[in-house]
Amino acid sequence: MKSRKEKLACQLDRFGFFEVMARFPRPGLIIFGYHRIRPDQAGQTNEFDDDVFGPTQSQFRMHVDWLRKHARIISEDELLNILATRRPPKKRCVMLTFDDGYRDNFKLAYPVLKEYQVPAMFFIPTLSISNRTLGWWDIIAYCIKNSRKDAIHYDGQTLLLKSDKQAAKIFFLEKMKATACGHTADLLARLADTCEVDFPSRAIQDAQLMTWDHIREMALGGMGIGSHGHTHRVMATLPRDVQEEEMRLSREILATKLDIPIRSIAYPVGDYTHFTHESKDIARTCGYQLGFSFNTGYTSWEGSDHFNMRRLGGPEDLGMIKGIVTLPKVFTRDSKKNKRGEHGT
Ligand SMILES: [Zn+2]
Repeated sequence: MKSRKEKLACQLDRFGFFEVMARFPRPGLIIFGYHRIRPDQAGQTNEFDDDVFGPTQSQFRMHVDWLRKHARIISEDELLNILATRRPPKKRCVMLTFDDGYRDNFKLAYPVLKEYQVPAMFFIPTLSISNRTLGWWDIIAYCIKNSRKDAIHYDGQTLLLKSDKQAAKIFFLEKMKATACGHTADLLARLADTCEVDFPSRAIQDAQLMTWDHIREMALGGMGIGSHGHTHRVMATLPRDVQEEEMRLSREILATKLDIPIRSIAYPVGDYTHFTHESKDIARTCGYQLGFSFNTGYTSWEGSDHFNMRRLGGPEDLGMIKGIVTLPKVFTRDSKKNKRGEHGT
């Protein structure tokens, strides 16, 4: 179901309002954060987390086509250059970013980016790619979707799987994001046990993820590659030395595997409760030049924080893309979850 803002964007789009607004130069930077792109064929079932899926490939093509005409789509290099020279372009700048290393990024998004010759950034959780294991949000969704139980009990809470699997999924996602490192594997094992579901096979998980060859090909094709941590654990739940290890190790692995300098990190999950001032400081000392957050809004160039480059979830509807780019104060979604239960990962 569309939100109030999405309905408004749709109505204004019908009258060509955003094309008129886009004629007025507006400085500033909008960074869209996508996770997964859906294939155009309808009816494909998904055993994993539905809420990390964004636009279809055709919708994404329309996003890129419109943005290329009405904004300036910039690369990591251009962003670093603008920040260093402090001479922002008059035209609205946009960056396209993808988190989590899903295979559809390579199969569905990259061909569109190549077709239009526009850059994007891909933030990679290195252990996931090396070990061929999906993130905890997908494992949580998989266990809940595949459970045949009507209800499960966890920490004194009863979750009704028969009537509301989405609520059960959100309960465990929030628990996972707040769970201290060292206990997150226990939480997943307990969930699988409670749901009476085996973890997805290695082959099933492998098919969802890019390989190092895919990522290397995109890097050679001019796409930016950054870190998304090593194990994708939430920085704010980790002590300083573990945060350091996450950021240093993932940067080293990416630089070695791809033979390119790694200058950016996107904090896993990424809103203000998931990274701290200490995380930003560690990112700097680990050699990063930029840190990207998520669900944190957009940036006007003045006073922008290099270690909190704000991002917004990439919407499905082209109308919302147009609304956010031309009138960000009106169309920027509220932080954290929207009504569809969308969440950062
Ligand atoms: Zn993520």
